[in-house]
Amino acid sequence: MQDALSLLNNIFGYPEFRGQQGEIVDHVAQGGHALVLMPTGGGKSLCFQIPALMRPGVAIVVSPLIALMQDQVATLVEQGVAAACLNSATPLDEARDIARQARAGSLDLLYVAPERLLTPRFQEFVSQLNISLFAIDEAHCVSHWGHDFRPEYQQLGFLAERFPQVPRIALTATADEQTRADIIDYLKLQDARVFLSSFDRPNLFYQVVEKHNAKKQLLDFIRNEYPGSAGIVYCLSRKRVEDTAQWLCDNGIHALPYHAGLSHQQRETNQREFLRDEGVVMVATVAFGMGIDKPDVRFVAHIDMPKSPENFYQESGRAGRDGLPAASWLCYGLNDVVQLRQMIEGGEMAELQKQVELGKLEAMLAFCEAASCRRQHILAHFGEQSRPCGHCDNCLHPPITFDATVAVQKLLSCIYRVEQRFSAGHVIDVLLGRANQSVGHYGHDKLSTFGIGRDYNQRVWRSIVRQLVARKLLHVDIARGQSLVLSDECRSVLKGQEKVYLRPVADDKASRSTAGADRWLRTEREERLWQALRGWRRQMADEHNVPAYAVFSDRTLRDLVEKHPTSRAGLAKVYGLGELKLARYGEALLELLNAAAAEAG
Ligand code: ADP
Ligand code: ZN
Repeated sequence: MQDALSLLNNIFGYPEFRGQQGEIVDHVAQGGHALVLMPTGGGKSLCFQIPALMRPGVAIVVSPLIALMQDQVATLVEQGVAAACLNSATPLDEARDIARQARAGSLDLLYVAPERLLTPRFQEFVSQLNISLFAIDEAHCVSHWGHDFRPEYQQLGFLAERFPQVPRIALTATADEQTRADIIDYLKLQDARVFLSSFDRPNLFYQVVEKHNAKKQLLDFIRNEYPGSAGIVYCLSRKRVEDTAQWLCDNGIHALPYHAGLSHQQRETNQREFLRDEGVVMVATVAFGMGIDKPDVRFVAHIDMPKSPENFYQESGRAGRDGLPAASWLCYGLNDVVQLRQMIEGGEMAELQKQVELGKLEAMLAFCEAASCRRQHILAHFGEQSRPCGHCDNCLHPPITFDATVAVQKLLSCIYRVEQRFSAGHVIDVLLGRANQSVGHYGHDKLSTFGIGRDYNQRVWRSIVRQLVARKLLHVDIARGQSLVLSDECRSVLKGQEKVYLRPVADDKASRSTAGADRWLRTEREERLWQALRGWRRQMADEHNVPAYAVFSDRTLRDLVEKHPTSRAGLAKVYGLGELKLARYGEALLELLNAAAAEAG
């Protein structure tokens, strides 16, 4: 058996295992079952890929998405590993060829979709093979509770009965108790060792901004922080996806739309382009993302509020899988909360489920309105204790709270005066003394609270309303025209028995550059080399017909620029350069690096 570390060094070109990887690899290589809970980007794939290379026979990898399989296989083949995938898109003669290789024992990993694994024909085929292990990726698909439920996954328990001797490893980034219990139950993993990793993503920088002109704010964010980088922008509706993608394109950003309303072919094309090309911004609904393995996504932007912390974590986690600094940027407003509540309350779900969803929405709002460390907040939601991270927006620019008791009293009494029957917009108009048609129609310009809030502008009042909703002092009644309703706790505030401290309205400029704080600043010479390497990588990727990151990751390029090796021995010390890559690209790289050195010298 080849040892794990030398495979890691030679094939994958990484110096050491990350977190629990080493332990997991040993356990599975020795024939143990495992359940691996690791955040997105944690490095789950190596946990089964390396044991697959260590153990005799072929590893069967179950994965729910064709695009995901194809990319993993392309990356493996590029590293010199004998891997293949079988799916509905595989041409017949190619499938025969793959089957032959598997029988002959010359294949190390075979990726299949669950529905194929369940066919009698495939089971017949599998029973002729020498199998090293079964890996079940995205294992949360077994659970009704999860967001990606796949009924076929629930039948994969048959593997335990048919192949009791073969180790099974299930992997997921969804860690909640219920999903975990479902995985163990359906996949019959009662004997498996559970490896639970921390869900912290230290290279991810969280930033939350208040919405006033989302598209413009987004454009500024991309231009200031991540020009020319790959990113994902999540929107709540298809229409918004279309609008936003168009707007970004009009402003010179290479953006593509993705949502379930596009034809299958269009979605495939856009997804390919996003994976292949550098610097594409994908504007999408949540339909996009599961299994997107692109390691160099530099930012995930939400221009509408996600519906739960779980969704937020999962989606934002698609940034920075390569371990380099990346940003999660969230832009939200009170209307988002209202819209999401409407979707939940008007939905088809059972009452109990609605309550669960509403609870999650509240937790999400609390995250947005938090005045303390974002990371600490999100990890606490997943049951993990941590210290303030020091580089999210709140850590870098701690919001100073102010005594807002008088302002809050004005707002609450205004809501009371309009009999808790009007929306935030109307209440704020009254506070600001705007005698518009609606205000006049209801005679609200005659109220004692008319115009008592002129010392703040509309943005400040909106922020105050949101913070009070987040603290449950106020409630938005969706069924009655989104009117603001007072809760019982308001009484002590109105009576002056309790003070309320709030955050001032965040200033976009002040919270800018959270990610930039850790951005790699290149000298001019480095910038030139970096661009030359990127151009060269693009060319190699086109020649080999693979995505750019399958040739080299950004991290490798960065290491090349920083170390600037000019000899073969120097190259071998670069991050991510395995034997095969050295053999394939070493010469050409040295030529490029030496030419750059000569130019600079
Ligand atoms: P996950 O499936 O957990 O989201 P991946 O397996 O796709 O994560 O790994 C994320 C990225 O981290 C990939 O680019 C992978 O090559 C890289 N990676 C994994 N393990 C290591 C390691 N030990 N050292 C350096 N990079 C690693
Ligand atoms: Zn922080």
